[in-house]
This record gives sequence, structure tokens and C-alpha cells, in this order.
Amino acid sequence: MLLTITTTHVPATDLGFLVHKHPGRLQTAEASFGKVHVLYSEAGEDRCTLALLLDVDPVRIVRGSGRRDTSGPMDQYVNDRPYVASSFLSVAIGKVFREAMGGRSKERQELAETAIPLEARIAVVPCRGGEALLRRLFEPLGYEIECEGHPLDAEQEEWGQSPYYTVTLKATTRLSDLLTHLYVLIPVLDNNKHYWVGRDEIEKLLAKGAGWLESHPAKEEITRRYLTHRRSLVRIAMARLVEEEGPDPDEIATVGDQEEAAFEKPLSLNEQRLGAVVAALKSADAKSVLDLGCGEGNLLRVLLKDRTFERIVGVDASHRALEVAARRLRLDRLPERQAERITLIHGALTYRDRRLEGFDAGALVEVIEHVDLDRLPALERILFECTRPRTVIVSTPNVEYNVLFENLEAGKLRHRDHRFEWTRDEFAAWCSRCAERWEYTVSRLPVGPEHEVHGAPTQMAIFTCQEGEES
Ligand code: SAH
Repeated sequence: MLLTITTTHVPATDLGFLVHKHPGRLQTAEASFGKVHVLYSEAGEDRCTLALLLDVDPVRIVRGSGRRDTSGPMDQYVNDRPYVASSFLSVAIGKVFREAMGGRSKERQELAETAIPLEARIAVVPCRGGEALLRRLFEPLGYEIECEGHPLDAEQEEWGQSPYYTVTLKATTRLSDLLTHLYVLIPVLDNNKHYWVGRDEIEKLLAKGAGWLESHPAKEEITRRYLTHRRSLVRIAMARLVEEEGPDPDEIATVGDQEEAAFEKPLSLNEQRLGAVVAALKSADAKSVLDLGCGEGNLLRVLLKDRTFERIVGVDASHRALEVAARRLRLDRLPERQAERITLIHGALTYRDRRLEGFDAGALVEVIEHVDLDRLPALERILFECTRPRTVIVSTPNVEYNVLFENLEAGKLRHRDHRFEWTRDEFAAWCSRCAERWEYTVSRLPVGPEHEVHGAPTQMAIFTCQEGEES
């Protein structure tokens, strides 16, 4: 069983510091099922590849497991376990990369916390559910996937496809995230575990899944397979996952929307914001537009009326908001030619969705402040790296202006679902960082009446992809 992990982060040999394994040495650890070797197949300044080689001893597995085996006597000794990625791999990762999986590095802590270009290749993974399952599990986490299926027998075509795949996963991510995703999802693909699954397995899943599993679109399927379909365990785990997702976002949104609208209404800020967004879209010559976090469809309504916009997609995590949007836009009664221009998609902006790729522009109107600060980097990466519209428009409140809202208590934010509101400097710093990192140029402008000291109530940024710019 072979897993390789490659980075092209310079200096690439820093990978050794991240996993606490020297690139110049072969290191071997003993496990109950055999040996785990870590070695490097290349270790250059620009590219470094580390290999985790599992030498699974089939005899030792049978003797050591103590578990009742219902398969035939031969299956105990002749099986795929030594050759494929399975829960043995998860155990090995937990054993030899424990610190790295936890995001700790003695020598390179900052790098451990940084997303770097990584590529994991698993020589053979049993994927019971085929390529579609593989994509369902890894694509929402931002991975680009290459997948090669193997026939059951190269010479007996009619036997068809085996469940075995050679898989490459690519992403710019933290090494700890990559290792954690592999740790949890490999046994999920295999749909099997080499040990008895009890209640402590729930704790393991929830601990390792923290920060990504609770909002993963396939969380239920992952949970079921991870807990080897033990219904009582799955029920407990699902209940806790839903709890961790937080209170019902729809409910908070409705109350908050009304409050926020009340502060901002006298300024007709909403109209001014939409006007500014549409002007920016037109000057970028955008024909296809994503409204990311479209809510109840304020922007969609304006876009739909204007024939300049040929393809319009609204995305939101809230079912309720999308239902309201569909009703307000009268989607069920639009003439066919109009209806073809617009699509509503239920989805999270922190997960990759291929349907959103290849657009001229993407607008996030008053959305980023609804995202937890520790989830914002995920949104940034999906937005600027995967979705990558040519133009990105972001608007967000300017917190400095809040003192001028008479009805807003000092120190309070404008909406109870806002996770933060930024000063102009904070927004500017975020914009510059994103622009530099993802190779966009950015300009910012105030929206709404500008106060001499406190600025305008809304701040907006327009990012333009550098590749798309004419030289
Ligand atoms: N753009 C709209 C709505 C702004 S309110 C307008 O200007 O009227 C913010 C919206 O973002 C809400 O509808 C909320 O459901 C959505 N949202 C927040 N976080 C999201 C996420 N991670 N993925 C998708 N939508 C999200």
C-alpha cells in the first residue's frame, strides 16, 4: 500500500519539518498489522515527495485481530488488504503523522498553519461507490481529482470494472487538513474497518471532522459509512453534527434582515448598493454572473430585468431564502426564454461546486460578514481559486459608520447573524491579501452617503483576475 504526498511549496524540503521526518532517512515504525515505512522519493528545493509505505502482514492481521471472520479460510490469508488503502492507512497516518495531522510543527509552525500546494496519490484505493462517491466526498473539500479505474482483469474485459482506483488529489491546503481528510475518508470509501467499531469511534469522527464535516453536503453518508452502518451510533453522531452546525440559520436571518433593513432604509442603501454592483458588472462586461449568497434575490431581480446578463445563477445556503427568491422572481411563471437565463442553487460557499466555474463575474453582496472568521479562508480559496470568476465584487458594512445609526446601540453590529463588521482598514487589508495571493487586482469604493470622518456605510471591492486582463 503506497501513499505519496508531494508539495511544490518552496523550499519543498520543509515538508520534512511538517511531518517531523528527515528527507534523508528511511524511517520505520511497527504497527499491529505490519510495518509502516516513511521515505522520500524526491527531495528538491522545488518539489518534494514523501511516501508512506504500508507493509501489511496478512498472517499477522488474521492472528492478531481476534475478530470473528465469516469469510472462507482462504479469504483470511488471500485478500486485498496488503495492497489497498484502508483503515490500516488511517491507523498508520495517526501513528506516524500524529503531530502533522494535529497541525503542529516544532520547526515550522507557521507553515503548518498555511495552505500550501499539495498532491496526494494513493496507488490503490477500494472505492465502493465508484468515482461518483469519490467526487462527492473530496470535491466539496476543494480537491481537484484525477481518478483511474482498474478493470477486474485486464484480459477479461467482460468482467468489468473493479472497485479499485488510482487516485490523485490536488489542493492548496494545510497539510493537517489533507491528512485529516484522508484519515476519515479512506475507510469511508472502502466502506469497511479492520476493527470493531464502538462508541469511541463517534468521538474520533467528530474530533477529526471538526470544522468541515458538519457542513459537508455528504455528511450523512460519511457518518454512516465511517461508523460501518451501525444505526444507533449513526443516530447519535448525526444528532451531534447537526447541533454543531449551529442554530437554525433561517430563523436568525429573518429577524436580522428586518432589523438591518430598518437601520439602513432611510439611506436607501440597498438600492445604492445594487446600483453600484450592476455598474461594476457592466463595466467589467460581464454576461454570466453568479450571485453568491443571493438571499431573497434582490440582486437577481435587477439582473433578470436587464438583458445584458445572459446567464444568472443565485447560490445560497438557506432553503428558506431561495424559496422566497423563487417566489419573488416568479420563476414558475417566467416565459421559457427568460427562465433559461436563471438558476438557483442550494449550496455553501465554503465548498467547491463545479457548476459555479467559468463565469464572468461573481458578486457577494453583504455576505462575507455572515461567515465565521475561521471559515473565511475556506470561502476565499473556493471563490478565488476554484470558482475563479474573472471579476469578483464584494460588499460589506463599514463598521466605522455604525455610530451614525441613531437606533443602533453602541458597539452592536447591524445584523444579529453578522460574525464581524470591518473598518475600512481591515477590509482594505483583507482585499490586498486576497488579491495578492490569488493574482487579482483590486480597487475599493465607498457606497452610500460619505461621512467626513466615518466614511460611507457600505464598502465595496472589485477584484479583476490578472490572467483575464488584456496586456
Ligand atoms: N446578497 C443578499 C443577501 C445578503 S444576506 C442581499 O444583498 O440581499 C447573506 C446571505 O448569505 C444569506 O442569505 C445567507 O444564507 C447567505 N450565506 C451566508 N453564509 C453562506 C455560505 N457559507 N454559503 C452560502 N450562503 C451563505
